[in-house]
Amino acid sequence: MNVGQIYFTDIANGVGCRTAVFVSGCTHHCKGCFNEDTWDFNFGKLFTPETENEIIASLKRPYIQGITILGGEPWELVNQKVLRPFIERIRRECPDKTIWTYSGYLFEELLDPENKRCHGEDTLPMLEMTDILVDGEFIEARKNLKLRFRGSDNQRIIKVKESLEKGEVVLSEYMEGRI
Ligand code: SF4
Repeated sequence: MNVGQIYFTDIANGVGCRTAVFVSGCTHHCKGCFNEDTWDFNFGKLFTPETENEIIASLKRPYIQGITILGGEPWELVNQKVLRPFIERIRRECPDKTIWTYSGYLFEELLDPENKRCHGEDTLPMLEMTDILVDGEFIEARKNLKLRFRGSDNQRIIKVKESLEKGEVVLSEYMEGRI
């Protein structure tokens, strides 16, 4: 997996000051995508053990609330292969930090064993370690600059643990109008 960009003090993609990791590779190709360069799985630099260590060190800073993994598409199956052990490490070494991820896939698609595009052996374990998932493709016609943490109003900010427990999507209080 390659990484296009890492921001070590990001406040735009999740609550509080966060480390934001933009992974490379995305097959959605949404019209009006904010980050077309990241569609290419070879964009950016290889995600090495050194990159991983640097991110973990950043997460240990007291003012960092957590990590946001976006892209690109973190939930492409090849990216899941790399991200699952990395997220397991975050959970082990930084248990008090929150994990947000973004996906063009819907929460229901990620959970669907029939969906060979985004559901694999790493998907459920990754979801179980994720606090918040912002899901859905970017739809240009539904773009709204006033939205917090998302680009178009079809996208949902989902509390993952609660959703898995309930068996249905539980929206976060960070959705528009519910803050
Ligand atoms: S899912 Fe995200 S990165 Fe991929 S094309 Fe859509 S907006 Fe761009």
